[in-house]
Amino acid sequence: MRHFAVVGSGPAGFYTAEALAKAYEDQARIDIIDRYSVPYGLIRFGVAPDHQSLKAVAKRYDKVADGSGVDFIGNVTVGSDVAVAELLDLYDAVILATGAPHDRKLGIPGEDLPGVVGSAEFVGWYNGHPDFADLDPPLGGQSAAVIGVGNVALDCARILSKTRHEFEGSDIVGHALDALENSAIKTVTIVGRRGPHQIAMTPKELGELAHLEVALPVIEPADFPPLEADEPLDPGLRKSVGLLRGFAALEASKPKSIVFDFFAKPVAIEGAGKAEQIIVERTRLDDNGAALGTGETYAVPASLVVTAIGYSTPPIDGVPYDDRGGKFLNASGKIDDRLYCVGWARRGPSGTIGTNRPDGYEVAEQIAAAIPPGGSGARKGAEGLKALLGGRGVMVTDYEDWRRIEETEAANARPGSPREKFVRVDHWLGALDR
Ligand code: NAP
Repeated sequence: MRHFAVVGSGPAGFYTAEALAKAYEDQARIDIIDRYSVPYGLIRFGVAPDHQSLKAVAKRYDKVADGSGVDFIGNVTVGSDVAVAELLDLYDAVILATGAPHDRKLGIPGEDLPGVVGSAEFVGWYNGHPDFADLDPPLGGQSAAVIGVGNVALDCARILSKTRHEFEGSDIVGHALDALENSAIKTVTIVGRRGPHQIAMTPKELGELAHLEVALPVIEPADFPPLEADEPLDPGLRKSVGLLRGFAALEASKPKSIVFDFFAKPVAIEGAGKAEQIIVERTRLDDNGAALGTGETYAVPASLVVTAIGYSTPPIDGVPYDDRGGKFLNASGKIDDRLYCVGWARRGPSGTIGTNRPDGYEVAEQIAAAIPPGGSGARKGAEGLKALLGGRGVMVTDYEDWRRIEETEAANARPGSPREKFVRVDHWLGALDR
């Protein structure tokens, strides 16, 4: 019997566990270890609460966890409760699927002012991440800004612009729903350092902006190149740019606006003790499509600034790390002998949830090729891990425990919502009566 530890229970972790279970059939035990007693990582804490169809992929992960040979070990932080080197003693291979939950920094003056939050923090706040339950983003001003023109920026701008009614059927947590309902924000400016042809937003997500109850997207027609310049774009981007062109032609008709401010590079965030405005420098593109400052600056008012400029993987002691890429140093997923990484921890924060499936399968194939079924039986796997953690006073949880938490969250849901998430670690554990 082989023993594998998959660290992280988000999409990358579950797809890798699924692939390992298939590759080894009944010849391996796979433990999915998570720092929390609730699984799914990005699906629970990252995917927007009003995108329930995307969250439904968790049902597939449940089947993996229910399958023979796969176990969930929750409430264990690798790096502090147990070291990677210790896991390597206990398991035939360790696969880090820890995602990229840390916000990248802009590196400009004023970034640390109150009122400036990273998208991981803001998204975590409305999605019930225990680290951000107390974020309390300032929603009392009329203007907010989101920096970056990717899908996360779209999520943040949309969530800031929806009515309570539009959150029906979502699992946005109660504290965020109430705060957003009382928000005074009328204008959300999405700040892009390059132009409409350089957006990282996808058409389905962008299209949603046209159907908001009280908010309308606004774009300067002058920001677009001539129409024929759209022709060579790849089909997805061409569709997105087409949507943006449609937004530029809309007549102002709603009380709130989502303004796209293109060719605007943030150079400072200013305010008296808190964010009040972003100073941006007007840019133009060089021949390679990079943003060049023109020297012209202006202010974008914003008492809440959400930076949505990408994420990085937190380093773990003893694991080689690529500082520039913000991920583990690896070659096609292999970090070292018997140590691998998958998903965003392997390749950085890009692609859709589905991208993690081939990624996990590819790494599982590599492992299967390097570590044939069998083995000396020297590795103790979960039994050894639980003994070690028990000795350190760490209380581990399992998938049955998660099912009980899930049932309680479902029972606590407001009408029409699938769940009211617990937003504190001790509330999860409290639901288990331990
Ligand atoms: P992203 O797609 O990489 O977008 C990051 C944005 O930040 C880019 O527009 C980038 O502009 C900008 N940026 C980076 N550094 C900047 C700086 N210093 N100043 C100003 N702007 C800066 O990242 P993301 O939005 O965080 O999304 C991560 C991944 O999750 C993506 O693959 C995304 O598609 C996916 N996702 C999908 C969904 C969905 O399918 N519904 C929802 C959310 C996220 P430049 O291009 O100029 O660098």
